[in-house]
Amino acid sequence: MKCYDCPRMCGVDRENTKGFCGEKSKIRVAKIIENFMWEEPYVSGQKGTLAIFFSGCSLRCDFCQNFEISHIGKGDEYLPTEFAELLKSFDYSKFESVDFITPTHFSSALCEALSIFKPPVPVVWNTSGYERTETLEKLSPFVDVFLFDLKFFSSELSKRLAKAGNYFSVASKAVKFAVDAKPNIIENDIMKQGVIVRHLVLPGEVKDSFKILDFLADCEKPVISLMQQFTPTGRGEKNRKLTPLEFKAVLAHAEKLGLTQGFYQTEGCADQSFIPKF
Ligand code: SF4
Repeated sequence: MKCYDCPRMCGVDRENTKGFCGEKSKIRVAKIIENFMWEEPYVSGQKGTLAIFFSGCSLRCDFCQNFEISHIGKGDEYLPTEFAELLKSFDYSKFESVDFITPTHFSSALCEALSIFKPPVPVVWNTSGYERTETLEKLSPFVDVFLFDLKFFSSELSKRLAKAGNYFSVASKAVKFAVDAKPNIIENDIMKQGVIVRHLVLPGEVKDSFKILDFLADCEKPVISLMQQFTPTGRGEKNRKLTPLEFKAVLAHAEKLGLTQGFYQTEGCADQSFIPKF
């Protein structure tokens, strides 16, 4: 069957061929970390999430911090039925949620798996936001929380750093779809349903961040999470860390717009995540 899971719309038969995402049709899991604490508190809570990192990526940014997983690809392969069995094998009393990290390019297969077994904790769809609304509609019955990292506003920037000139026009529709489909339900500081929009501020791109925040302010003010953890990887054009002044400017803009429901990373997070409430 031809693949149109993501906005790349390759139309390749993934039984035989890899698309732009670098993956064939079987679900490939690069890594699973139990009780993972480094997501937003609404996702990690006290017990941590069951983090499932998928191999490959449909966006493939130059500066990717998970290059080995997203660009090179690795891990164990599963048919949807096998992945459902894998999901069944965990004790969910130990986790606040299940965190599917970069799953977009396995959307069809994951819909099939989740229709066999949906974990009894919130299922978090943690992606770049580069998503087709048609695909999100299919996922909607099985996903509780959409956690999107809204990356770029400028099409010139997204083309340069991720070969996706249509990034913002696509991702902004995905955010609007998710906000309509999943009104926030937060119980005991855990998001049972809803939308969190992350934004990783890029060095030298503060104005792009302002425009993303302007959009979010017009978009029913979803829960936001501002990140300053950008770490140069030695690949691509971004070869320095973010300065404290750049991040402060973005934080101040968010506050000016009334975007205060959410989280931001404190200084010194370029190597690890720590995300207190605003
Ligand atoms: S999921 Fe992969 S193969 Fe399918 S359209 Fe996207 S990049 Fe192409």
